[in-house]
Amino acid sequence: MALNPSKRVISFHYTLTNVEGEVIDTSRDSHDPFAYMEGTGQISPGLEKSMALLSVGDKRVIEVEAADAYGEHDAELIVEVPRSKIPNPEEVEVGDQFQATGPNDEMLLFRVIEVNGDQLKLDGNHPLAGEKLKFDVEVMQIRDATAEEIAHGHAHGAGGHHH
Ligand code: ZN
Repeated sequence: MALNPSKRVISFHYTLTNVEGEVIDTSRDSHDPFAYMEGTGQISPGLEKSMALLSVGDKRVIEVEAADAYGEHDAELIVEVPRSKIPNPEEVEVGDQFQATGPNDEMLLFRVIEVNGDQLKLDGNHPLAGEKLKFDVEVMQIRDATAEEIAHGHAHGAGGHHH
């Protein structure tokens, strides 16, 4: 008997769209489905909760509200800074990304959303924050996690973490 409570590794193919039906991401153009271990935060909480009810071979469209996906859009994370504050100030363009400290001292990825002369407008929200998402999923495999996977906190093998 394992001392750890058993955890499952679930492999699934998905196509992620927003509510307008635009494709944001898909696993279907790669050979391997995506694999995650339950309870490790590898996928968004709303998706994980719905996936837990499915069996191998099930196909579903799962809708996840913004709050259960990448969070609501936080206006506090839109900030204006002088151009001189960022690395390579003379080459900055809309869409550039870099890491910086957020309001609670956490490291966030900021995107440049506007360049106005010497002022830049940055957005530290996840690009999918505030979006309700639709996952069109097909469950390919469900198995127990190995002791090594439980120790690492992520799925290994096809579609999982490679070291
Ligand atoms: Zn590992």
